[in-house]
Amino acid sequence: MGSDLADGNGNMSKAHPVPDNIECPSCGHVIPISETIYHQAFEQAQRDLKAKSAKQEQELAEKEKQLQAREAAIEQRVQEHLQKSNCRP
Ligand SMILES: [Zn+2]
Repeated sequence: MGSDLADGNGNMSKAHPVPDNIECPSCGHVIPISETIYHQAFEQAQRDLKAKSAKQEQELAEKEKQLQAREAAIEQRVQEHLQKSNCRP
């Protein structure tokens, strides 16, 4: 008795759920997408933006860049899979 769930640490609210994997549009093979690849894409996008210096525009651009980076990361994964021989439509 007295066992409550430790949910006080959930400070990261995921506005955009990150998929764990994606299906190949060609063969249906499940391609795993790690969070690492998003991280790399985000960091690159942020470095890109920090080079420029606009304030309001930067915030909007940052969100846009992050969405683009995510899509690019997924696209890259799919392309990698498509070019490998394990893609069998
Ligand atoms: Zn495939």
